[in-house]
Amino acid sequence: MNDNWLADRTRCFDSSGIRKVFDLAAKMSDPINLSIGQPDFDVPEPVKKAAIDAISEGKNGYALTQGIPVLREKLQAKVDAQLGHDDRELFVTSGTSGGLLLAMLVLLNPGDEIIVFDPYFVMYDALAAVAGGKVVYVDTYPDFRIDVERVEAAITERTKAIVFNSPANPTGAVPEADQIRQLAELAARRDLALISDEIYREFCYDGEFVSPAKFNPETIVVDGFSKSHGMPGWRLGFAHGPSAIMQEMVKLQQYSFVCAPHPVQWAGAVAMDVDVSQHVEAYRRKRDMLVEGLADDYEIVKPRGAFYIFPKVPWGSGMEFVEKAIENQLLIIPGNIFSRRDTHFRISYAAEDATIQRGIEVLKKLARMGR
Ligand code: PMP
Repeated sequence: MNDNWLADRTRCFDSSGIRKVFDLAAKMSDPINLSIGQPDFDVPEPVKKAAIDAISEGKNGYALTQGIPVLREKLQAKVDAQLGHDDRELFVTSGTSGGLLLAMLVLLNPGDEIIVFDPYFVMYDALAAVAGGKVVYVDTYPDFRIDVERVEAAITERTKAIVFNSPANPTGAVPEADQIRQLAELAARRDLALISDEIYREFCYDGEFVSPAKFNPETIVVDGFSKSHGMPGWRLGFAHGPSAIMQEMVKLQQYSFVCAPHPVQWAGAVAMDVDVSQHVEAYRRKRDMLVEGLADDYEIVKPRGAFYIFPKVPWGSGMEFVEKAIENQLLIIPGNIFSRRDTHFRISYAAEDATIQRGIEVLKKLARMGR
């Protein structure tokens, strides 16, 4: 094989940091695993049954590219009831990631700039780069709030889009409605596409979820069932927004993902009627347990959603601290995976209470080591 077989876009992102963490983790015997970015509850029984029934009944062929009508119409009706926009079309995607990739590919020309808030979910800068975009980071440390003036200052004549994520991975931040409104209005005023990743929308602990689409009807929303229904391996998501953009995304889906897994779509229609509030309640309690357990030793912005906290390291760099944590059997993720800074670390509390308690003990010990 010749070196230049590989396209330049393979050099757009680097996963060596996370690989290093997983290499270290592979050597652990009884890890305290607080690194996982997925729910620790299983798919609800009626949803499993619907998937099994769909497979048994032979719903195994290709689905319509935009999704089976039963699911798509049900999702569309829900979104219409929430937002009431004249021009908001919805289609079913292969996970939220599928929706994100399609959105980036239909919006960005090579060299177009896209604004990403730092810290960010790892796929944003990678997918934007794959689409040929140039990522412009807007730093949100130390409190992870959206400062609209900073966003405005980052806009150039090449800016095409902004990616917004609330509740956020990795910080758990949920900005106030007023900040979200200001961001949504800024995008409209400056004629920028606003992509809103709403995958954690069910996991809001201190108030109602607010979408920027409420204030800006042209917002492109990507969403999915992975977190809300504990089915990340099933690859089911959806996207909604202005019909002209959705139609281009569907067109590209036809030549790439083809459709979201067909039997899973039948299960998704059933999942929409399943109440997940007991899981949300459990995670709210786990958040409180973790935040209270670490309050004396760590600088933490109390997260209001998702299932992560993003504390500042008490000593060293994020990577050094995580290496020490792993030596002590605790698996967490260094902040530089999600950020241009290496000063924080991510804990996922989608775990058993006993695991979280063990994690708290190790973290307290580690904080005191540096003193
Ligand atoms: N967006 C965010 C913010 C996420 O944290 C994740 C999953 N970790 C995704 C999107 C991708 O989700 P999906 O499984 O639906 O592709």
